[in-house]
Amino acid sequence: MTRAIWWIRRDMRLSDNKALVAAASNGEVVPLFVADQQLLASAGASRVKFMYDNLAALNTDMGGALVVRQGDPRVEVVEVAKAVGAKHVHVSADFAPFGRRRDEEVRTVLAANGIMLHEDDSPYVINPGTVRKDDGNPLQVFTPFFKRWIHVEWESAPRITPKFADASSLDMGLPLGKETSQVLMTAGEKAVWERWSSWSAIGLDAYKDARNRPDVDGTSMLSPYLRFGVVHPRQLLAALGSGAGPDHYRSEICWREFYGDVLFHKPHTAWKNLQAKMDAIPVDTDKKAKERFVAFTEGRTGYPIVDAGIRQMLSTGWMHNRVRMIVASFLVKDLHLPWQWGARFFMDHLIDGDIASNNHGWQWTAGTGTDASPYYRVFNPFGQGEKFDPDGTYVRSWVPELSDVDNKHVHMPWTLGMLAPTEYPAPIVDHAAEREEALARYKKVTGK
Ligand code: FAD
Repeated sequence: MTRAIWWIRRDMRLSDNKALVAAASNGEVVPLFVADQQLLASAGASRVKFMYDNLAALNTDMGGALVVRQGDPRVEVVEVAKAVGAKHVHVSADFAPFGRRRDEEVRTVLAANGIMLHEDDSPYVINPGTVRKDDGNPLQVFTPFFKRWIHVEWESAPRITPKFADASSLDMGLPLGKETSQVLMTAGEKAVWERWSSWSAIGLDAYKDARNRPDVDGTSMLSPYLRFGVVHPRQLLAALGSGAGPDHYRSEICWREFYGDVLFHKPHTAWKNLQAKMDAIPVDTDKKAKERFVAFTEGRTGYPIVDAGIRQMLSTGWMHNRVRMIVASFLVKDLHLPWQWGARFFMDHLIDGDIASNNHGWQWTAGTGTDASPYYRVFNPFGQGEKFDPDGTYVRSWVPELSDVDNKHVHMPWTLGMLAPTEYPAPIVDHAAEREEALARYKKVTGK
């Protein structure tokens, strides 16, 4: 019986998986995961743990057929393919800068050994680079991208029952040590669909408005599963019906696709401003700035919704989208720190940490990215708190020092004066003054 390799990266699922289907069409499938030290070094402990948990769940679903190798994919993929006599390696394509480089190198080494690398799927509904203007140029604004993306046709993978090879003698097991003992979301495809059916039954219709409320169960919380391909976005699109909620959910899925596309065309924007003119805006990096950054990373800025968001991420590996925007705006516009500091910090702690969505989410908030004029948009942390967490339920659940503070003061505890809880820090900066400072810095550079 011929054998093919299914090299698993961001497609940790058995359903609707075109790489797996293609591998199975070549005979017995050897499911391979390579624990690449270079990649593991760039992921925080909680993301590594969540990834391992999902691999373990997948392995159970495959009857223990997973082969794990530790080391450099340029060596390991070839070695396993040769050892099992496979002439074909099937993957879901990686469109991020690191993955693209790695895959080209692996492709070359495989080809030198007479083995072919096939990109049969991707983590996107529509591959980055596909949606373009009529003149063939890429789109840099979301709405025109969405209007084209929504009309591109796509297909699900057929249902199959793959036959997995027994290649257990090649299995090295996962390198342990970096992952945390934190309790994270339950791993595996079954957990995805349980969450989807319980959340969508109530949450989908209310999604358009409730998605902005961190104090309610207003969003699907599936981003970590999308990150590792435990679910494919086309499976979610297929599960959506019609109406305002599903329509809005579709457009959020498209944001993920849009950022993947932007990064594909401009890989340097992973860490550099998309709008080069914004390079001239001064940022603070001195000792005081570093001290403020430490307070930020500990969730001790004195701004309750900012601190709640950071603490939610530190303890669960996930943060609500509205709060990510508030937190990011605070770092850039109130603390005047480089957005890259915040993006790196998020990538260290988010279990959904994704270079395209994260770094372009940061750039969007910083006003250096795809949106035309959001630099003026300075989020007011207590105004946002009062609007989107009106009873302070979210803030109190992550900042226990505020548990006895009434609704009126919970987003501005400093206004209690002598009665403010002593164990909670005073604001590290004055928002009104820093807002003016941010706008002044912007004006100096742009004249606006
Ligand atoms: P839902 O509201 O249920 O949305 C469904 C899916 O749509 C999400 O799972 C996600 O895949 C996609 N989506 C929704 N909003 C966005 C968005 N603004 N941008 C891109 N995709 C979106 N998302 C990540 O997946 N990884 C990240 O590292 C990441 N970092 C971010 C950093 C900042 C500063 C900001 C502002 C946003 C970031 N996002 C990131 C986007 C967004 O915050 C998360 O995708 C969302 O909070 C995930 O929660 P959910 O699954 O409940 O979303």
